[in-house]
Amino acid sequence: MQQLITPVKQPVRNHIFHEITRSLCTECRRVVDAQVLIRDGAVYLRKRCPEHGWHEALVSSDAGWHLNSLKTHFFLVQVHGFMDEHTFDLKRLMKCCIHQLLPDGRAVPFCAYNNLGYREQVKQEQKMLP
Ligand SMILES: [Zn+2]
Repeated sequence: MQQLITPVKQPVRNHIFHEITRSLCTECRRVVDAQVLIRDGAVYLRKRCPEHGWHEALVSSDAGWHLNSLKTHFFLVQVHGFMDEHTFDLKRLMKCCIHQLLPDGRAVPFCAYNNLGYREQVKQEQKMLP
């Protein structure tokens, strides 16, 4: 019998891929894709900027504790001055370093998300989903 599919030998990796997330390039602060990897019992964040290449950082030296803490101890506190139509400041918007990821993958400044119609756009698009 003729074999139609040629098996591809995958390289053996020394890590477990846990999840994909988004992060900032440590050099240019651009939002980039990042991978959360588990290697030798520790958790690493590996990201790649098209301009500055690969960066890897240790997130936790104890993968078990880290994964468990995501389920039981994770709580995000974010303090941010909100702008509205009366306090809108374009210079401040241009310096906004917190981004909101839209369902289509775009990252918009958090300040723009709340002021320039992105929030309403996302809500409208989600209503159209089945
Ligand atoms: Zn960069």
